[in-house]
Amino acid sequence: MKTNPLASISQLTDADLLSRVKSLVSRERTATAWLVAHLAEVDERRLYLGEGCSSLFTYCLQVLHFSEPETNLRITAARAARRFPEIIEQLADGRIHLSAVGKLAKHLTVENHDELLGAAEHKTRKEVEKLVAAVDPQPDVPSTARKLPTPSESAESHLFQTRLAPAIVAPLAPERYRIQFTASAETQDKLRRVQDLLKDKDPAVIFDRALTMLLDSLEKTKFAKTARPRKSPGTKANSRRGSAAVRREVWKRDGGQCTFVAPDGRRCTERGNLHFAHATAYALGGAPTAVNLRLRCAAHNAHEADLDFGPGTSLIRRNRKRPP
Ligand SMILES: [Zn+2]
Repeated sequence: MKTNPLASISQLTDADLLSRVKSLVSRERTATAWLVAHLAEVDERRLYLGEGCSSLFTYCLQVLHFSEPETNLRITAARAARRFPEIIEQLADGRIHLSAVGKLAKHLTVENHDELLGAAEHKTRKEVEKLVAAVDPQPDVPSTARKLPTPSESAESHLFQTRLAPAIVAPLAPERYRIQFTASAETQDKLRRVQDLLKDKDPAVIFDRALTMLLDSLEKTKFAKTARPRKSPGTKANSRRGSAAVRREVWKRDGGQCTFVAPDGRRCTERGNLHFAHATAYALGGAPTAVNLRLRCAAHNAHEADLDFGPGTSLIRRNRKRPP
């Protein structure tokens, strides 16, 4: 039988209740500060790679099950704390909250961090925003004149609107998504012309057909996927990347997704920026065959180069560009 945790709490005296709240807040802050400090070290060692994640962000989301905003705050704080370790202590004793660190992080410098972190103590998020505005004043937002839709205009098409709005892809019900974005007059004109030529005038149907054609065309160029594959010349087939036919086979077999699997069995979910990686390295005699090639995301490709050829193989790349 399930117990109701609120039942025992309802029996506490007012004084006990308030004292326990204070103690819990203190424990929560200590735990958060320590978590941030540990995440900073996980980030430094890139341990998320071995856990089947291409970035610390993915690790926080998929393995630790934080939400996106929770993840962003913790990663920002972890990276800021690597530069200014006093942040950990400030978080632990509640002088500063994660939101404040999030707002300040990119404005902190060796020269101003003492002053800024001090000024942010026990401040609300709004007050911290004012501190940031003082250090990094933004120009006035220029006045703009934009065409806004009249109700009749926006009713014409529920997909293409001339309203200034960020693109939205929101699930409405299982397997149903609402997609909304701002389109140019040229796009709207193209849609009308396509609608004139087609029987089904539904923008959702047209959008899907257009995407199918674009996807096909992109895959053709990116992964050498063709409807009638040509026989590769022998010399090309021996190239490091593998022939078009081999790459097509590997892409299909691996389902267009990184195939790195963590010891606990979870597979990397990355589908962007994929590489055809060699199971046995090319330099060690690995052939560019379907058996030896597999899809790997950029992060796991670099991770395995480090494992194969020693740490530091991917260091130059790593210092040049950090994953988000
Ligand atoms: Zn991966």
